[in-house]
Amino acid sequence: MSEPTRPSSHSPEEFNAMYAGTPPWDIGRPQPPLLALADAGELRGRVLDIGCGTGEHALMAAQHGLDATGIDSAPAAIESARRKAAERGLNVRFLVHNALDLESLGEQFDTVLDSGLFHVFDDRDRAAYVESLKTVTAPGARYFVLCFSDRQPGDRGPRRVTQAEIRQSFSQGWRVDAIEMVKIETTMGPEGIVAWLARVARIDG
Ligand code: SAH
Repeated sequence: MSEPTRPSSHSPEEFNAMYAGTPPWDIGRPQPPLLALADAGELRGRVLDIGCGTGEHALMAAQHGLDATGIDSAPAAIESARRKAAERGLNVRFLVHNALDLESLGEQFDTVLDSGLFHVFDDRDRAAYVESLKTVTAPGARYFVLCFSDRQPGDRGPRRVTQAEIRQSFSQGWRVDAIEMVKIETTMGPEGIVAWLARVARIDG
């Protein structure tokens, strides 16, 4: 990748510190575009929620009867996620783990959810992340990602992502089935953030 790069929006320590309060993305319920996928029966098998934060999407998968794991590098987020699972009587495995080293999980998943992680990485880590994803998915698995769109005005928050960048990142060993414009809800107001929801399937390669 020779594209100019921009540093990650926050270091792992900064992310962890943000969970001392309520970060703007932590809305206490699933993001509606991902909930719609779950309600439509699009999630199946073993589900991995990467960069799960306080766990709403892994909890959602468990609520839909699926075997769910959530991982995040922020111990404070994982602690909150475990507390929510206990409060809601849901059985979800939450682990402190680095998304760039999924291989060391030593497991395979059928559905991978990414709400707000892909857009955190700089170009180099983005490529490493996609390689990491390959180690926990076999052909037939599906990856659903919700990320900031280049159509979102301004430059506050994480880097904006273009549809072309998504297609480029998933051009080998993956098939991009759809990219649609949706909103990410935040705690900061009703207008939300312009986002892409991409549906990606793992294929040979
Ligand atoms: N999916 C959650 C959180 C999104 S914010 C939600 O929708 O609310 C992005 C999350 O990714 C943060 O919780 C941050 O701690 C986590 N994160 C950032 N870099 C990571 C990495 N390398 N490995 C695992 N998690 C990471």
